[in-house]
Amino acid sequence: MTKERILAKYGEMALKGLNRGTFEDILMKNLRHRLKKYGSFRLTKAQSTIYIEPQTEDMDLDEILEDLEHVFGIASLCRACVCEKTMEDVIAKAVPYLEEALLRAKTFKVEAKRADKTFPLKSPEICAELGGVLQEAYPHLSVNVHQPEITVMVEIRDNNAFVHGTTIKGAGGLPVGSSGKALLLLSGGIDSPVAGYRMARRGIQISAIHYVSPPYTSDRALEKVEQICRELTPYCNNIAFFCVPFTEIQESIKTYCPEEYFTIIMRRLMMEIAQIIARRDNCLALITGESVGQVASQTMQAIACTDAVSRIPIFRPLIGLDKTEIVETARKIGTFETSTLPYEDCCTVFTPRHPKVRPMLEEVEKAQAKFDFSALVQKAAEETTLQIFRLN
Ligand code: ATP
Ligand code: MG
Repeated sequence: MTKERILAKYGEMALKGLNRGTFEDILMKNLRHRLKKYGSFRLTKAQSTIYIEPQTEDMDLDEILEDLEHVFGIASLCRACVCEKTMEDVIAKAVPYLEEALLRAKTFKVEAKRADKTFPLKSPEICAELGGVLQEAYPHLSVNVHQPEITVMVEIRDNNAFVHGTTIKGAGGLPVGSSGKALLLLSGGIDSPVAGYRMARRGIQISAIHYVSPPYTSDRALEKVEQICRELTPYCNNIAFFCVPFTEIQESIKTYCPEEYFTIIMRRLMMEIAQIIARRDNCLALITGESVGQVASQTMQAIACTDAVSRIPIFRPLIGLDKTEIVETARKIGTFETSTLPYEDCCTVFTPRHPKVRPMLEEVEKAQAKFDFSALVQKAAEETTLQIFRLN
């Protein structure tokens, strides 16, 4: 039986700003968590690579590989055949191991990486020797060094030699959890799930907060957001989801404040509550899906008015993106379909007919001062419910 491993490489680039040990420990922990459901594995690390060794033989490595494509911090992935560090063994194993892939291809080349410089053959010699043998074994193949259908890699590493075919691209970024935790304001829309994905890719562990206004918003609207949380877990790992009852606050805004400021006041109160929850959940920043100029509440002036109530940073990773770019990512990560289901969210419930597009902070503060919201904000935070969506 050929021994196989999955090689997860994380490239030196990713390590730049971070302590190597921390990066590797968190990535290993995330991988273990991810692999638990498939069975037992031994994980080891060497030379910017994590070696994943299945402990039983019945595992579907392609399925696992597909799952690992979501794991941030990994630059590339492949399954590889483990060989002894001799050319004889590399050849003996490579020929049968690559059969399926090579029978499907017409052109190929061999590349070698010799991390262990004591190996007697140099890289070009390894390529020439293995290339010759493969061509003999699979005579339909021809060599194409510029655009081969398949590149066979031989890696001579400290512990073993490895042979593999196609390498797939990893998710990139930094391992989730390596940059601390932040609270994502998650609506049912297209933008905020993408914002969460992008910050998770920078190593941030995401918690989510969502505001509901029953009976103006339906159970369906909430279920939709819960579904988006589930869709984000392959990237974000477990997500703590906070659901805030927001009806009373919205009704009070409507009753006491001038209509043109509804939206901006609502957004400021969302931020107030989010900060209380963030403190409780150890989140160091808030995240929103805002992008300049997209809607009336996303002008620079409106953003300044929401920023003014926050004592912690608000990350807006989509701030300079076009809608088409955001939609592209939403499709890629698989949240687009759910996001475009039609259920109303609380923002659309009390939309003013003529919202103030460029509100001045003093005017907004004056409009908001028509009512003391502090008790309602505290109450909403206390009545907030928590649900954990787990990576499964
Ligand atoms: P999205 O596509 O994310 O819904 P949007 O284009 O609808 O964004 P807005 O309605 O102005 O824009 O909302 C801006 C941001 O405010 C959202 O990206 C999200 O982060 C947050 N937000 C809006 N509504 C809610 C809600 N009901 N619960 C939690 N966060 C919300
Ligand atoms: Mg929205």
